[in-house]
Amino acid sequence: MTGIAWSPLLNPPPYGASSYDALATRLGAALGAEGRDVVIVPGEAVVALEAVAREVGAAGGRILNIATSVYGRLFGDWLAAGGAEVTTIAPAVPGAPIELDTVRESFAAGDYDALAFTHGEAATGIVNPIVDLLALARRHEAVSIVDAVASVGAEPLDLGLDGADIVVIGPQKALGGPAAVSVALLTEAGWARLARPAGAPSFSSLSLLDIRRDWIATDRAAIPGTPHVLDLWALDACVAAIETEGAATLVDRHRRAAASARAGLLALGLEAWVDAAHASGLVTGALLPAGVDREAVIRAALDRYGVVIGSAPAGVDDRLVRILHTGRNASFAAVLSGVGALAGAIGVVGGDADPGAASAAVIAANAADRL
Ligand SMILES: *Cc1c(COP(=O)(O)O)cnc(C)c1O
Repeated sequence: MTGIAWSPLLNPPPYGASSYDALATRLGAALGAEGRDVVIVPGEAVVALEAVAREVGAAGGRILNIATSVYGRLFGDWLAAGGAEVTTIAPAVPGAPIELDTVRESFAAGDYDALAFTHGEAATGIVNPIVDLLALARRHEAVSIVDAVASVGAEPLDLGLDGADIVVIGPQKALGGPAAVSVALLTEAGWARLARPAGAPSFSSLSLLDIRRDWIATDRAAIPGTPHVLDLWALDACVAAIETEGAATLVDRHRRAAASARAGLLALGLEAWVDAAHASGLVTGALLPAGVDREAVIRAALDRYGVVIGSAPAGVDDRLVRILHTGRNASFAAVLSGVGALAGAIGVVGGDADPGAASAAVIAANAADRL
């Protein structure tokens, strides 16, 4: 039999240039990023990060790069490949936030033109101390470059005058949006830190400067390249959702989820992975008791309760588990089921856990007026 398989995802309605222009403006306004250029990048956030690194790297100079996960390591490699002199530093404990003293010592020892770091890490559930890091960068007249893909919408991201010069965000985490489109936010100082690689062809898909030339600096009558229409409609819905809820409320919802997940995990007798001030709003990490088989716990949580419990990347403490509360799951329901499933799964594998105490702690934390 032949025929046509219709789907609402096929032949989507066009997304026009004026909507595309307005979308960037709306997103900037929703995030409090007025005064910056909001550059929509076709491709997931890793593409935007590589594009930033390619042109920041091409500008040369010395860059202090903080790696608290694989993204930071990659960013340093891209910068170096572009031609910058890169010093990458990492926390003493793999997967932990960077220590401010380490950054201070690096600045004291070297004269850096830029500081690059990841704000929040979904893989380990940590947040780096962005306010202090940006203050250090300013004091040393270094341009700041921040990967805020896993923090936008989940942690306060101040994009005011003291904010970072180049910020990359992705809609697919706290914002609950599409993964195949991302956004770079640049101040004038940020743009000034970009350069075309020597001998670069006249067009690259990894070039913010090309997007500026072909879109930002034009009359914006035609979207450059082929518009990725489905993702643009999804980003439009995502921006509308932020406009409706409000960015501050969205952050509060994630902070509340994180605080209640933490309360539940502590009531289970687990050790928190980081202190509350450095804990992500997307996921909450804790260490299983020594001797409890992590893989068996994660399997039991999925098999018996249908709940995904996260682990941590190789090289990070192999007792680390993560309760996931990202985007729509930044909710009482998801936290209670995550903590409950973890408690149940620890019991299934023969460990000691009190689901009643853990649930009561989550319920009590949500009743609190303040986080
Ligand atoms: C998720 C994430 C990204 C983007 O990765 P994708 O492949 O687009 O999902 C970049 N940086 C950080 C810190 C992230 O958590």
